Amino acid sequence: MKASNILTLVFIILLTSCKSSKGLLFHEYPNPVDTSTKQVMLQKRMEYEVNGVHADNLFEGARLNNFAQVSNTMFRATISPENKPINASAYYALRIWSEEPRDIELELYYTEHEHRYIPKLSYDGIHWINMHESDFDTLKAPNIATLKLNLTKDKLFIAGQELHTMKHVRNWVNKIQKHRDARHSIIGKSKLDMDMHFVDIYNGTPDNKKAIVVMTRQHPPEVTGHYAAESFVEEILANNALSNSFRKQFRVLVYPLMNPDGVNEGHWRHNAGGIDLNRDWAEYKQSEPKVVATHMVKTTEQANNNVVVGLDFHSTQKDLYYTLSDDLKSSIYPFKDFWMRGIDNTFDDYTPDDRPSTLNQPITKTWFYQQFGAEGITYEIGDETPRDFVRAKGKAAAIELMQLLVLREEDK
Ligand SMILES: [Zn+2]
Repeated sequence: MKASNILTLVFIILLTSCKSSKGLLFHEYPNPVDTSTKQVMLQKRMEYEVNGVHADNLFEGARLNNFAQVSNTMFRATISPENKPINASAYYALRIWSEEPRDIELELYYTEHEHRYIPKLSYDGIHWINMHESDFDTLKAPNIATLKLNLTKDKLFIAGQELHTMKHVRNWVNKIQKHRDARHSIIGKSKLDMDMHFVDIYNGTPDNKKAIVVMTRQHPPEVTGHYAAESFVEEILANNALSNSFRKQFRVLVYPLMNPDGVNEGHWRHNAGGIDLNRDWAEYKQSEPKVVATHMVKTTEQANNNVVVGLDFHSTQKDLYYTLSDDLKSSIYPFKDFWMRGIDNTFDDYTPDDRPSTLNQPITKTWFYQQFGAEGITYEIGDETPRDFVRAKGKAAAIELMQLLVLREEDK
């Protein structure tokens, strides 16, 4: 082959790779994360009974690895993560009751890490209250929380966060799909064969609309992020001038439960493959990111949708936003600065906490940018942020986003 032909060939290859916005892209990072499947320890699902006191983990989202009596009045619930090493999200969920009314102390004994979540109590699994701070302490050791309980024969749920599992997600999608602009489908299966849900929102035809993506619950205990995502989506479906206009112009792709196996099994962080799914957005070795990433790219390419924002809802110690640093200019840069200012102006006593960073990890935030040139944002809610504020802020975040994007279209 002549040198000029080789040059032409190289040029054609370069040209083809430049057009690589077609199809699902694989990415390289300076410090790659190995997301090959690892073994997880499944809890033994059972009812325990010692001297008339019962405890069980026979429900979705439970986490209880052992239950034993320590002294006349003291019982111990052992809580272990699905595998190690793991993030310090010591999640627990169990039911406890007694054949006779009885006051006991219950130790939550974590085999890894320290106590993190304020105990939430419920008798029906629907209505929850925070345990009063005078009723529990970690004085014995940071990895032991001691709870004072008055047991009766009624089964009492005690959990690190309210149960918000597949059952709740199914109810939620059933509710919102009654809206004519919301279409629900199952797009694939998790590693343990659970449904991967998808809600497709738009008015009229999806073709040639710009798109935004909402996803949540890559990390099982992060229910406050999940509440924010639900509130955000509900506002997009609201019947008002802004929301109705937005759905005419934009398509919204919603993936409401990214890690159904982990949620069902009460995992602290990982999926059934023992992997943090929010580190698998480079090679998609785990089922769930692969199903969703493939679906998202295919769906938006088929309808010629340009994805401009990707929001991934999570929970951590406090409310904050992980965003792209200013050297990474998305197709709608500097959207997030205006967006956060809008949220800031909505609430007197709240100031958004922006944490920009560069493309350092294979997480969704960077993936949205690399795959689509979109604004990628990890929307974090504090573990204990009041739930009514979580919902109010989710709604405000949707309103500000819709206003900005609709204005931007009109400006053209
Ligand atoms: Zn998370």
